[in-house]
Amino acid sequence: MLNAKKMENFRLTAVHEMMKRKPVEITYPSNKTSDYFGQNVFGKEKMKKYLSKEAYRSVIFSMDTGSRIDRKMADQVAAGMKDWAVSRGATHYTHWFHPLTDGTAEKHDAFFEIDKDSEPFEIFDGEKLAQQEPDASSFPNGGIRNTFEARGYTAWDPSSPAFVIGKTLCIPTIFIAYTGESLDYKTPLLKALRAVDEASVEVCQYFDKNVDKVISTLGLEQEYFLIDEALFHARPDLILSGRTLMGHASAKDQQLDDHYFGSIPDRVFAYMQDFEIEAHKLGIPIKTRHNEVAPNQFECAPVFEETNLAVDHNQLLMDLMAKVARKHSFRVILHEKPYQGVNGSGKHNNWSLATNTGVNLLSPGKTPKKNLQFITFIVNTLKAVHDNADVLRASIFSAGNEHRLGANEAPPAIMSVFLGTKISSMLDRIERMVSDDKMSPDDKTALKLDIGKIPEILLDNTDRNRTSPFAFTGNRFEFRAVGSTENCASPMIVLNTAMAAQLKQFTKDVNEITASDTKRDEAIFQVLRRYIIESKAIRFEGNGYSQEWVEMAQNRGLSNITDAPSVYKAYLEPKTVELFEAQAVLSKRELESRYEVRIEKYTKKIQIESRVLSDMAINHIIPTAIKYQNVLIENVKGLKEIFSEIEFLEAAGTRMESIKEISKHISIIKQKIKQMTDERRKANMLDLCHKRIENYTYQIKPMLDEIRYHIDNLELIIDDAIWPLPKYREMLFSR
Ligand code: ADP
Ligand code: MG
Repeated sequence: MLNAKKMENFRLTAVHEMMKRKPVEITYPSNKTSDYFGQNVFGKEKMKKYLSKEAYRSVIFSMDTGSRIDRKMADQVAAGMKDWAVSRGATHYTHWFHPLTDGTAEKHDAFFEIDKDSEPFEIFDGEKLAQQEPDASSFPNGGIRNTFEARGYTAWDPSSPAFVIGKTLCIPTIFIAYTGESLDYKTPLLKALRAVDEASVEVCQYFDKNVDKVISTLGLEQEYFLIDEALFHARPDLILSGRTLMGHASAKDQQLDDHYFGSIPDRVFAYMQDFEIEAHKLGIPIKTRHNEVAPNQFECAPVFEETNLAVDHNQLLMDLMAKVARKHSFRVILHEKPYQGVNGSGKHNNWSLATNTGVNLLSPGKTPKKNLQFITFIVNTLKAVHDNADVLRASIFSAGNEHRLGANEAPPAIMSVFLGTKISSMLDRIERMVSDDKMSPDDKTALKLDIGKIPEILLDNTDRNRTSPFAFTGNRFEFRAVGSTENCASPMIVLNTAMAAQLKQFTKDVNEITASDTKRDEAIFQVLRRYIIESKAIRFEGNGYSQEWVEMAQNRGLSNITDAPSVYKAYLEPKTVELFEAQAVLSKRELESRYEVRIEKYTKKIQIESRVLSDMAINHIIPTAIKYQNVLIENVKGLKEIFSEIEFLEAAGTRMESIKEISKHISIIKQKIKQMTDERRKANMLDLCHKRIENYTYQIKPMLDEIRYHIDNLELIIDDAIWPLPKYREMLFSR
């Protein structure tokens, strides 16, 4: 007898394998998360235990001020950190950093050394803690390290605590070139956070003299898809490009909205619990989990934290999610658009500013004074986003995220801000009641009364505008356009820098007016009014997905840029350079390097997609189509044998049509692939990366869709039993 198993194709074997899976048993370390939360983090508690008072104080000081720790103290900290790490089972240490790739980087070294008498011992000193020189010449650097010294350094960031993963002590670090230029996300992020701190404190001083530090806060909602690993392995496109480059829509997908917030499937639930436990041990405060809109799409969100820490934690979390998924025979898909036709994944950046006195600056308060402060920060955010929309967009644009932006499911490529009716009408009133001349005492009182009436909890904002890329949600802004794979330092660098510059401008403008004898409050009103008028174009409360908005935005003069080469140019605009240089966050050279890294990354991703699609079309799809076509041909031949001429035409007509149709699709696919390969060859000969990206964007990328169209049509014709790739219905609905 024939072995039935052997007859099955890769896809059906995968489906079969997947159906046998059971949820992994999960045991919690304790019923109380607080018992093990942060157990693998060298946080303040552990520092107190493992460090001398002196060393502890110096770490805390440098955490708070961003200053360097002196060598002697660093030795002490290193020794304490090592003792703690060894007690958690660590044998190695690594500097952990965020190069300009999608992920994080680490290179492990053992604590263990041999002394001159050949005796082994464990050591970790201040020098190794503070600085390393990884041979990291292969990280993207946008030309920075070609022109100068080839060396790069990592340097300890005490503001993000060290942690142990497996047997390795990980020390968060910045990554810079020998010349001091940044080669990572963290360096400019820390600078941007410092700038926004300074600028915010100055503004807060108008309202409360006790404020001497302002931190940027960030809560990241991470969306993701899960797929069984057997199905995953049967899809070369998912493995290599992170998304499906072909696949006909499933008859049912998300149209019934029956997945969103639905009961979580058992295998998935076990996975969620497992990675949450691991995240909690690492001090990542995951709190929320639920099913998302698309089938097999999910979300988790932590409690917000200080922005640098939140970004580190999100990078760590993405890593952890991928690792734990394997234990559950899943693969986690973080790509922004793994499946055409169903919702993609984003990473909402919930952002605010908080003072050392415990005030959330984007949350209304109890008094008119607190609320004027609140309105001040709201209006300055509006103005910052308005003036820097293009570079904000560039900071989140990628080959993955572009499938979301402007597609009718996620925020459009037009930057706009949603405020909700309460705040919006408040701003309208300020605009009406204030003028550049002296305000009447009545107007002033009325306005203050109005401002005093802003409720502490903005109920109407629970009615969220899900179509806005940048929405006020009652006590924070939610930058919703960010993609699910993005290192959120990228948008946070831009947003906080823009905000810093804006707030500094605000203080300057207010001080100018008060210098000529106008009262402070009135000066604030006048400046706010001017900003409200200047940034009005960006305020939009309606449906961001609608065609009317596209037209309206155009009339308002808002940019709607959707092609990569134009989007990324925002990094090079003189306005951008001025912004970043004035805030000492990034130099012109560093911006150019970031621009280059981003366009190279984009180009390479399209290149990979194009190659993978070609391989799959030639090696999987066309052979399958021919196989099925041969079955039809055999069938037609048989019919010819048994039927008369007239009967035959009637019986075999549709089959002959199918044979022709298959031939047509095959020919077009082949021809287009040849064309696409030629285009690639042409593009790759171009020396300049900003030229290459144009070919990839305008010539090659559209061909991916054209080829896909024909493949997806073949999927509809060909016998299900021999189709080699897991279908959308299988990838979206099985677990
Ligand atoms: P929703 O889906 O309603 O937006 P989630 O609970 O999924 O709500 O996510 C909200 C995120 O916003 C959480 O990470 C939460 O901690 C965060 N958040 C709340 N307040 C602030 C704040 N002041 N600053 C930054 N993030 C905040
Ligand atoms: Mg949200």
